[in-house]
Amino acid sequence: MTARIARALISVSDKSGLVEFAKSLHEKGVEILSTGGSAKAIEAAGIPVKEVASHTGFPEIMDGRVKTLHPKIHGGLLGRRSVESHMQAMTDNDITPIDLVAVNLYPFEETVAKGADYDTCIENIDIGGPGMIRSAAKNHESVTVIVDPADYDRVIAEMGDNDGATTYETRRALAAKAYARTGAYDAAISTWFAGQLGETFPQRLNVSGELKQTLRYGENPHQQAAFYTNGKNRPGVATATQLQGKELSFNNLNDTDAAFELVSEFAEKPAVAIIKHANPCGVAEGETLIDAYHKALSCDPVSAFGGIIAVNRTLDAATAEEIAKLFAEVVIAPDADDAAKAVLASKKNLRVLITGGMADPEAEDMTLRSLAGGYLLQNRDAGRVKREELKVVTKRAPSEQELDDLLFAFRVGKHVKSNAIVYVKEGKTVGIGAGQMSRVDSSRIAAWKAEEAGKNAGEDALRTAGSVVSSDAFFPFADGLLAAVKAGATAVIQPGGSMRDQEVIDAADENNIAMVFTGMRHFRH
Ligand code: 5GP
Repeated sequence: MTARIARALISVSDKSGLVEFAKSLHEKGVEILSTGGSAKAIEAAGIPVKEVASHTGFPEIMDGRVKTLHPKIHGGLLGRRSVESHMQAMTDNDITPIDLVAVNLYPFEETVAKGADYDTCIENIDIGGPGMIRSAAKNHESVTVIVDPADYDRVIAEMGDNDGATTYETRRALAAKAYARTGAYDAAISTWFAGQLGETFPQRLNVSGELKQTLRYGENPHQQAAFYTNGKNRPGVATATQLQGKELSFNNLNDTDAAFELVSEFAEKPAVAIIKHANPCGVAEGETLIDAYHKALSCDPVSAFGGIIAVNRTLDAATAEEIAKLFAEVVIAPDADDAAKAVLASKKNLRVLITGGMADPEAEDMTLRSLAGGYLLQNRDAGRVKREELKVVTKRAPSEQELDDLLFAFRVGKHVKSNAIVYVKEGKTVGIGAGQMSRVDSSRIAAWKAEEAGKNAGEDALRTAGSVVSSDAFFPFADGLLAAVKAGATAVIQPGGSMRDQEVIDAADENNIAMVFTGMRHFRH
């Protein structure tokens, strides 16, 4: 079923591609109706256009609040061409059919994002635009609706192939896209309103996102999956440019996000994080990026195989050469110089992502996860304990080097699945225990992993000897701390707050351990 387009209505805030589109419509013999600003732009290009106001015989009033809200417009859009009584109603009321609508809305989302005041946001709520979009989309059996300038060419091309008409398939697809747009628009308005009412958590959850990529599959091949962006444009996986490599998978995206968020905790010195299954298997700071990379890799080179590598500085050729020696799935960096890009280009399958900047670890945002029958929404964990906030609870205070390492360990621990135990020595992780159901098991695993890595590297001394250790939540008993003592740790960082804090402090004092409490925990489940 094709529908020849004789009359079109154009009313757009985003005027990109407008003139070319109007010109093509005109060349196809289409009569163009348009609202104030859009009509001016079309007319200025020398293309014949009729103002909606002269079509309806009713002026644009109230600063444009009422422009197209008129039966001659909505009747022309909604009247069913196949229903005799509808056509008769059109004739009786001097309504002419409108076969195509190209509308994009007042930029409400952009206005809010710019931090505009209340009244400006209200004025940027489009009323007539969504109305026309919804009318046209409802009548897609005859009417073509375009809400995105990216679709102009496609419609013009199709008209060219079909004697000035569009196909039913296209109109239907455009109608679906149109309702997605008006739905997202209203969601943005209601979310903004909730914020104005002081509601952090609105009565209804409105989640809208743009489809970025349909994924080959989800976490497992029998699961379907897709990736959406939320328009917040935070530097990270969602906004990064992929320079090379295969398509990113569901697990790649999840792990790469974990890697980049983690490495973004560190700004002062070059830092590298290597991630496997969303947990780090090596994180380090160094004087140079290559130095940080070697240190990060040395933590657990066995697990790093097939990992994700995130760096916090422009990737240079020397570091890229080293990375190229490892089998890695993804490299993510704020930038890469040309020489580094050339080096990585030889690893065709390696996915390389450039973010253009680092994530702000303190940025406010929400995290969303689902459970059977519902969703859990919370503020992102933007907590960061500062050096001056640490409370020394033991007889011995940590040395400056220990303090540096304690803070580093605690920041890494924030990105490790609970229970999270992290051993650090001189700015690099030496043992990481993740995701165990018992804290003491995580402590033991972290120490054991460090021992194994040391043995594999042919080292005599225990890597954890003289290290510091971080725990994401308090030690409920002294056993976790004693596991760290056994491994040779000299200082401990943990939130504190257990009923048995004193027992743990006593155990630390007996072993000449320095311990600080953060008062903040970093569960990550
Ligand atoms: P123009 O720049 O052509 O003057 O205005 C175009 C914008 O007006 C489009 O974003 C369109 O969605 C919006 N618009 C069209 N009709 C109406 C209406 O009756 N009321 C309001 N508030 N906006 C409208």
